[in-house]
Amino acid sequence: MTGVQTVGKIKKGEGCSVKGCENAAVRSLSPSYVSTMKKAGLEISDSSRLYLCEEHYKKFKKAHSGEERLERWRFSG
Ligand SMILES: [Zn+2]
Repeated sequence: MTGVQTVGKIKKGEGCSVKGCENAAVRSLSPSYVSTMKKAGLEISDSSRLYLCEEHYKKFKKAHSGEERLERWRFSG
């Protein structure tokens, strides 16, 4: 299991940080995960916080757990 550090409370009305996504954010993550999102092919708006909606949080989790594999399987996919 890989721990994902969530930052906690989200201000009401905060939107997802993924460009083009207008869903409400359900998770707030450390901006250090922006690179994980970018590797997954998602464009993130510049921000000091990374906010994700439910859908993109799922994609993030997938990308995050896949990162370890990617180190061995760079050309997979
Ligand atoms: Zn989103």
